[in-house]
Amino acid sequence: MRALICGAGIAGLTTALALHRAGWSVTMIEKAQGLRAGGYMLDFFGPGYEAAQDLGVIEALQGHARGVGRLDFVDARGRTASSMAYERMIEAADGKLFPILRGDIERELHSALPGDVHISYGTDLTEVENRVGRVVVTTRDGKRQDFDLLVGADGIHSQVRQLVFGPEEQFIRPLGFHTAAYFFESPRVAEALSGDFKMMTVRDRMVGLYEVDRHRIMSFFVMRADGLERPKDVRKALGAAFGELDWIVPDVLQAAPDDGGIYYDVVAQVAMDQWHKGRTILVGDAAYAVSLLAGQGASLAMAGGRALGQVLDGADDVGAALGRFEARLRPLVQDKQQAGRRMANWFVPATPLHGLVRDIGVNAMNWPLLPGLMGKFFSVSAKGFSLAR
Ligand SMILES: Cc1cc2nc3c(=O)[nH]c(=O)nc-3n(C[C@H](O)[C@H](O)[C@H](O)COP(=O)(O)OP(=O)(O)OC[C@H]3O[C@@H](n4cnc5c(N)ncnc54)[C@H](O)[C@@H]3O)c2cc1C
Repeated sequence: MRALICGAGIAGLTTALALHRAGWSVTMIEKAQGLRAGGYMLDFFGPGYEAAQDLGVIEALQGHARGVGRLDFVDARGRTASSMAYERMIEAADGKLFPILRGDIERELHSALPGDVHISYGTDLTEVENRVGRVVVTTRDGKRQDFDLLVGADGIHSQVRQLVFGPEEQFIRPLGFHTAAYFFESPRVAEALSGDFKMMTVRDRMVGLYEVDRHRIMSFFVMRADGLERPKDVRKALGAAFGELDWIVPDVLQAAPDDGGIYYDVVAQVAMDQWHKGRTILVGDAAYAVSLLAGQGASLAMAGGRALGQVLDGADDVGAALGRFEARLRPLVQDKQQAGRRMANWFVPATPLHGLVRDIGVNAMNWPLLPGLMGKFFSVSAKGFSLAR
């Protein structure tokens, strides 16, 4: 059986590993010119952890784990409002949680791919025809090819979804925020962070800062905003939204790279009644983005990719297997999407009261008797997710 996977992010690469293990012949196409570097830092935990173990990549991923001392929420002047040891989050997830750069996950998944999985970079699909028992795709160079399965793993703005299921507006649920992230060098900011993950939250806005390597800082911003449009000038938009904040924020804004070096997107979820149609299936953010506020998108992308390999391992009826994949994964996704919507007001406080309640909660997490509360508040689940055939 032959599969084409569109998108070589975490979902696509995991699906490639899992399908190959299930005996499928796998080809991939990726719109970017090569493997993407950097990204942003994320907490890796939850259902993807078990998938990474099962696929034999967990040690390689752990090798890139970054050290975080404390998680601090600070006010507009940089004064700590609440703080807890990062270790407490790790404990709440039974030790199965670590911070890692998205780019490091993708690099490790890529290097685990068997040699016969070919990736064509710098291309995408222009047409998809679902026929009985197969799918015919056309790539940008006009080449038409037949596959037994097309996997759309091309992210929240999925083109496969657009070609097969319909326009993006039908499925994207904006949560009322935009986000931006970039890396920069600054000994001064590094000194102010002193090895901790600091989040400045003020009404309707948040700035997250962490020193990834010596003096190399990852910054990310979340701000309340409507619509789906990227501003014409992202640096200017960030300056307008965060310019009046104090502490090291002026340094952070000053160090922003040109627009091309800034990740920028709407904070949104994807809600679809069905993730498969004929011989096309969506996985990862393309099908069920939960948003950065839920904090498990990478994990669910990996869990989904692995589960797809499990249901398709020796499946005689591909359609039935895809249906089963959906039915089993959907409750987990709905749970995380709900958590994401719930988290928004705590991480980007809608009112000062939200910030206050969050700070009381975070400080209380330092009490050793409250790991259950911690797990609930941060939606840190140690549960795995697996599908036997
Ligand atoms: C700031 C931030 C913080 C986050 N923090 C966390 C966290 O703490 N924990 C967590 O688990 N998750 C986190 N996430 C979410 C997580 O990063 C995503 O959910 C995850 O990366 C989704 O993976 P994916 O492979 O489905 O999609 P993507 O990462 O979007 O990958 C899609 C791939 O498809 C390619 N592509 C796009 N269009 C096409 C096309 N037309 N043809 C071919 N290829 C195409 C892209 O270039 C890319 O390589 C965070 C996200 C953000 C933005």
